[in-house]
Amino acid sequence: MKKPKPVPVPQYDHLKIEPKWQKFWNKNPKLSRAIDNDAKREKLYMLVEFPFPSGAGLHAGHVRSYTALDIIARKNRMMGKNVMYPIGWDAFGLPTENYAIKTGVHPSISTKKNTDNFTRQLKAMGFSFDWSRIVDTTDPNYYKWTQWIFLQFLKEGLAYRDKISINWCPKDKIGLANEEVVAGCCERCGTKVEKREKEQWMLAITKYADRLDRDLDNVDYPERVKIQQRNWIGKSEGAEIDFAIDGFENDFAKKITVFTTRADTLFGVTYIVLAPELKLVEILRQNIKNWDAVDAYRKKAEGVDDTERTATDKEKTGVALEGVFAIHPATKEKIPVWIADYVLGTYGTGAVMAVPGHDDRDESFAKKFNLPILTVIDKEKNILVESGKFTGTHIDVAKQLIVKGVNGRIVTKYKLRDWVFSRQRYWGEPIPVVHCAKCGIVPLPESKLPLVLPKVKKYEPTDNGESPLAAISSWVNTKCPTCKGPAKRETDTMPNWAGSSWYYLRYMDPNNKKAFADPKKLAYWSPVDWYNGGMEHTTLHLLYSRFWHKFLFDQRLVPTNEPYAKRTSHGLIMADDGTKMSKSKGNVINPDDIIKTYGADTLRLFEMFIGPFDQAVAWNSDGLIGPRRFIERVFKLTAKYSKTGEISKEASGLLHKTIQKVSDDIEALNMNTAVSSLMILSNQLEKESIIPSTEFKMFLALLAPFTPHLAEEMNAIIGNKKSVTLLPWPKADPALIADDMATVTIQVNGKPRGHLSVSIEDSKDEKKMVDMASNIDKVRAHLTGLTIKKTIFVPGKIVNFVAN
Ligand SMILES: [Zn+2]
Ligand SMILES: [Zn+2]
Repeated sequence: MKKPKPVPVPQYDHLKIEPKWQKFWNKNPKLSRAIDNDAKREKLYMLVEFPFPSGAGLHAGHVRSYTALDIIARKNRMMGKNVMYPIGWDAFGLPTENYAIKTGVHPSISTKKNTDNFTRQLKAMGFSFDWSRIVDTTDPNYYKWTQWIFLQFLKEGLAYRDKISINWCPKDKIGLANEEVVAGCCERCGTKVEKREKEQWMLAITKYADRLDRDLDNVDYPERVKIQQRNWIGKSEGAEIDFAIDGFENDFAKKITVFTTRADTLFGVTYIVLAPELKLVEILRQNIKNWDAVDAYRKKAEGVDDTERTATDKEKTGVALEGVFAIHPATKEKIPVWIADYVLGTYGTGAVMAVPGHDDRDESFAKKFNLPILTVIDKEKNILVESGKFTGTHIDVAKQLIVKGVNGRIVTKYKLRDWVFSRQRYWGEPIPVVHCAKCGIVPLPESKLPLVLPKVKKYEPTDNGESPLAAISSWVNTKCPTCKGPAKRETDTMPNWAGSSWYYLRYMDPNNKKAFADPKKLAYWSPVDWYNGGMEHTTLHLLYSRFWHKFLFDQRLVPTNEPYAKRTSHGLIMADDGTKMSKSKGNVINPDDIIKTYGADTLRLFEMFIGPFDQAVAWNSDGLIGPRRFIERVFKLTAKYSKTGEISKEASGLLHKTIQKVSDDIEALNMNTAVSSLMILSNQLEKESIIPSTEFKMFLALLAPFTPHLAEEMNAIIGNKKSVTLLPWPKADPALIADDMATVTIQVNGKPRGHLSVSIEDSKDEKKMVDMASNIDKVRAHLTGLTIKKTIFVPGKIVNFVAN
């Protein structure tokens, strides 16, 4: 990794200029403050994902996202909108906790240190956040309401306890959500994940699966985000079909129900596969002749995680249930029943009708174990073959007919699972319930919130995997709110994703003591107009917060059905060798270094200019020199400022075209092309002998969102006493942005016979164009001897004489 090279700095001293304006903005916080319930102005709520305040500080990715939305926020304020652009801290999290385990420093102390550092860095970047709205998920005044929302889930039966097999990281001693397991390993530490049965708190996100899928139609999200969420939710329309077991035709406890999206292939079923963990296997135990082999396979499958089990390229394994046969519901033939780990107990019914003739996974399984493979679909014609009375039927029709014919049921299934909502860790929101021997689980009265995290001596989970809270008996032992008898507090805490599931609502009313937010303020600011964040949060935070929001909407606590009207996602910034930036490789860019050498405005411009916003880009320190030189050259333009006089027609035209282009580009997040148009404009302005006040201010206004320090400084030099951010956003003059001339093609019977170069205005005048066209020599020659039957006129483009 190359260190940024210092450049000679003529005149423009960013080390003096930038801190000077940051001080000015600090003293004038109203410049970026949003006003609640301001009915006179249009509101605009711009949101970026609030950072986890790690010890490493701000990174290049934060700068990319925050700069882009800062530009949009600044522009829209100049357009007269009431813009809210808030920031806060997503401060619960494992890194802080692991640091506490290592050093004994309480997480709240290191969090304070880290948020102070983040604040300093964000201010040094010149971001125009509304600092009066800061939220911190670890502040009891904040998590009081996270706990309160949990109690609402509990009240509605959407928070519940269940003994489930969880992913367990033996190193971190923590239960992990499925999405925190990457290729069978802990996302945090890379240790191989094990399975463990544990009683957990769950949130019933699956109750919202259908709406979370369907309502994506009504939001402005990039297609790739919608696709990822939809795949994660995994909605599939299919059918449940019952297979009786030979000898137990009337025993409902022993029937096999499969879920299939391909009922049309029913006649191609040659065996049945059950997930090894399915309870039915246990129920059939008496009938299974090779129980030892079956049981050994089941035990082995327990240790394998779902991703590995379902990998398509994985060598298929399985065991036949000897002595157990299913009866095909249509042909009444006996077919074998197997268990195999490529079928998951959590998807569908945990039982699959195997159709090796028309399913790749079933095919490789059948080939390995010599099971018959039947062809029942003519793939060219999409009709059924060898399918009894359904032979010749189109597959789409056959699906329904067959389901009906075998007494099946049309059903919708989802891949989405309920959300494991408890961790056996310290640094999280305490779950506000007690366990009473008499009354069971009793929620704390809302008046007792927040339930504050007590101080502990050690932050490590206990050896049996319980949270360190379990070791503080004075805290654990309490009274039951209902019967006043002895009770024990819940010692699990909430997962990292809890506090971020609703923080955008708290920004609307961050200091409210009576409610998570005032309904009037919620009505004014909702929904978030534009939310930018990382693609990696698509199936986690983004989906979770949509779920919480829909729940709150159903409780009539928020005014909209969806939290975010629009979502965009920035591409990652990679290290200069194209790999991910990481501390261990020493290729992380610290914004502090760039700010010191080149200035914050250079870093802002550079990250906007580096490439299309939604695409991954590689960092290249050499690229900082261009934006830095641009800033120096623009600064020199101040010398051309003139109170009076006129600008050249050429420069005026380019200025107005740039206004149009930059305005459009900002709203479309085409920040790189916006910056390059500003560069082209400044080249033109360098050729001018003077830049009159009107045009100069328009130019400053265009610069201000991108390089706010530079724009403030130039604005002050020309004698403007008010902040540059109070300049109006310029409007392009339509007369000046239109290209002056148009080319009209003249045709005879559709063949081009001549051209006319005319003013745009004239090109739209039919009579004038037809007159001029019929006077062109070549056109007249082609019309000689013919009669014009019809004249077709396309304004600005074509005159076509139809003649014979
Ligand atoms: Zn781990
Ligand atoms: Zn009780």
